[in-house]
Formats: sequence, structure tokens, C-alpha cells
Amino acid sequence: MKINSIPELLDHFKDEQTCISYFEKIRWPDGVTCPHCEHDKAYKTNRGYKCANKKCYKKFSYKSGTIMENAKISVRYWFIALYLCTSRKKGVSALQLHRDLRINKRTAWTLLHRTREMLKDNSFDLLKNVVQADESYFGGKLKNKHKNKRTKNAQGRSMKDKTPVVGLYEKDGRVIAFVVPNTEGATLKKLIRKYVDKNATVVSDAYRSYKGLEKEFKHIVVKHKDKENYIVDHKFHTQNIENFWSLFKRGYMGTYHYMSPKHLQRYCDEFAARYNTRNMTEQERFNYFLIRLDRRMTYESLVRGHKMAA
Ligand SMILES: [Zn+2]
Repeated sequence: MKINSIPELLDHFKDEQTCISYFEKIRWPDGVTCPHCEHDKAYKTNRGYKCANKKCYKKFSYKSGTIMENAKISVRYWFIALYLCTSRKKGVSALQLHRDLRINKRTAWTLLHRTREMLKDNSFDLLKNVVQADESYFGGKLKNKHKNKRTKNAQGRSMKDKTPVVGLYEKDGRVIAFVVPNTEGATLKKLIRKYVDKNATVVSDAYRSYKGLEKEFKHIVVKHKDKENYIVDHKFHTQNIENFWSLFKRGYMGTYHYMSPKHLQRYCDEFAARYNTRNMTEQERFNYFLIRLDRRMTYESLVRGHKMAA
């Protein structure tokens, strides 16, 4: 199978049954397993399966226990949404999906938000080696707002009008981003303590909230504002996390136009997921996230135990 474009995706997943079979192969590589009791034998029924365990006998389908459960959306549409969401650098909006798939706006919105659930980074691995830390602010475009709605000093580091997000990037590794209530020292340090390995070197700019970090980590401060004193260092800089913000912001402006503070974390997860799989082929990325339709499965557990569905 080769999926590097939308025509290839549609050619391969030509109908609903092909998609269901593909998903079943990924979900149950060793044969159908009951999601209620884990029994490994089941009878085929008209609409799905019935567990062969006498104590269970429950009916189930490929959808049971997955993100697709209780949503009346075809598997093919889930596949298309996942493909678009993971292969387009700046994401896909509900409005675009509503037009492209000719589904109603509410369905498109639900489909995308559930897809974002699949993109969430559930890894417990701490960030190691050299870790860049930086914060950014997301909110409505200032110039489009009516004057009296603007917050004074909404530029720069003031967050009165915007939602702050903290990003951590492990050099040559992955990025994680979190919506935070504020960018006070205590908030930033708490996050860094939670997600960064004690032996790592943390690189940040000279923002006051990072002060004191040197007591717990090796801390390198990169100066930005003062051009004359800019530290030219190929090893220690915050360029990667800044690149991530700029990609995120281009997506915000170009694709979504608006992200509510309530859902901003999901967008953080979505942009981080794409960034972290940037070296995969489109197909690898598609399979990597497809497995997460089953909430309990991870890609790692699958490739460790079984061969990938062809
Ligand atoms: Zn069962």
C-alpha cells in the first residue's frame, strides 16, 4: 500500500468495507478479541461479533471501545479526516472538512476534535539532553479588534488579551506544548520540573520567570533583545521552539482563524503531533495515529508485538 496523496488514499480505501477490514487488521492483528473481556474467540454476526466466552456473550463491533464509538460517521470519513489532519502542515478546519466531505458543520467539528484526541502525546518519557523552553501567546488578531476591545499593552509579554502557552523542545526529539494560566516563574518551573529530566540542560531567553532555574538544572540563557550581545552558539539556542511557534501561528491565522481558549490545548496537541512526526512518510504517520482510534492501544505496543498491517 502506498498513500502519499489524496487520490492514492481514496483509491486504496475505496469503500467502507475496505476501511473496516484495514482497521480490524490493525486493531486485532492476532484475530478478533472481545473488548469487554479480552476473550480471543468470537462469532461473526450480521452486524459485528458476539463474544464466545459463555460468561460474557456480549455483542461488539470494530467500533466498540474506540474513538469512533457512538458517532454516526463512516470509517472512510474518519480515515480521510485523519489523513488531512496529519498530512497538511497547517491542519484542516471544520469548515474545510464540511465542504470537502459534504458533511454538516457540527459533524465536521466533532470529527476533527475527536481526531485531535488521537494526536495527543501520551508518552511519559522525560525530555532529555538539551531542552529549549519558551512561551508564546495565542489570541484574536489585534488589528481586527475594535479599539475599545483592545487591551492596553497587548503586545509583547502582556497576556491580558491572550492565552499563554509554554513549549518545551528536546533537541532532535519532540516538542510538547501546554496552555497555562499565567507565565509566572512558579508556573513555568513546575512544568519544566514535571517534563524535563533532572540532568538536562535547559535553554531559554532572559525572561524573568526563568530566573532561578539554574538552581535545579543546567540553565543557559540566550539573549535576544540586545542584538549586540546576541550569543551565537550552534548548540544552545531557542530556534527550534521558535520555529514551532511560527508554524503554529501560521496555522492559527491561515487555517483556523480562531481557536477558543477552551480548546487551545487540543490545537497544541495537534500541531505538536505533526511536528513530532515530521520525518515520517505520510503513510507511516497515518498508521501511527490510526492505531489510536482504539484508545487503549499505542503504536509502540503494536510495532513491538506484531507486524504492521500491510
Ligand atoms: Zn467477552
